[in-house]
Amino acid sequence: VAAEITVAPLPPALGRGATVAIIDRSAAEEAEQLRRDFVANVSHELKTPLTAMTGFIQTLRGPARDDPAARDRFLDIMDSEAARMNRLIADLLCLSRVQAGERSRPAQHVDLAMLLREVLATMGPAAHAAGVHIESDGLDGTIRVPGDADQLVQVFQNLVDNALKYGGSGGWLGVRLARIDREPLLRGPGWAVEIADRGDGIDGLHLPRLTERFYRVDAHRSRAQGGTGLGLAIVKHIVNRHRGRLKIDSQRGAGTTVTVILPETLKRL
Ligand code: ADP
Repeated sequence: VAAEITVAPLPPALGRGATVAIIDRSAAEEAEQLRRDFVANVSHELKTPLTAMTGFIQTLRGPARDDPAARDRFLDIMDSEAARMNRLIADLLCLSRVQAGERSRPAQHVDLAMLLREVLATMGPAAHAAGVHIESDGLDGTIRVPGDADQLVQVFQNLVDNALKYGGSGGWLGVRLARIDREPLLRGPGWAVEIADRGDGIDGLHLPRLTERFYRVDAHRSRAQGGTGLGLAIVKHIVNRHRGRLKIDSQRGAGTTVTVILPETLKRL
């Protein structure tokens, strides 16, 4: 703990004695360190594609100048590096918007069942391409919860996308919506959305850190899949804003289940 302690004598008018001020500097220092780490991470993530692009530009100006096949290949790579930078910037803007509004409660209600049906319809082609069969349960009818539709779409798209990217080898994706009567840390009933895959799973030691910005179990694999390392951080902040809960259960070799629990009402909070 970094503390600053100052001792000063009391003004004579107040009699004999002294004031002691103890200021805890550790929280402020920790926040500052996190901010520095974040800036360093962002710079690194942006620099990597930029360095690759600069290299290819030089090659195109020099050795590959008169080689049309090489030129096309390098332009394709530059295209995908530019797309990576775009994704990163879009995720950074999304994260910063979500964090800025995290203290405000969602003012609207959404139909959670319909929202999930729509997300699955949008992700259907990607699942099909990855050879993943989607099984859903409890998505019929209408389930009203307080929520921001755009943000909740983002949450479930990120989770389904992760299940396909990292858990797709299991060939199965389960999405279940169920009512929860009681949940620690949640006052009152809520609705749980479970997104489960039968992929390789995640070692327990990583689980507590998965929602940190830029934390990846396998950085190479994440980048190869087009990941920015910000998906679960965005999910966590949106769920916080909805006064909900996020749980990640996983077993190496057996698969991963991510559960988002949203309160049915925000009135009592
Ligand atoms: P990324 O952009 O790298 O996908 P995320 O924040 O969405 O970033 O996820 C962080 C890391 O958590 C991923 O890099 C991956 O290692 C791991 N992960 C997320 N979802 C799953 C899953 N369903 N199965 C296995 N690993 C996962």
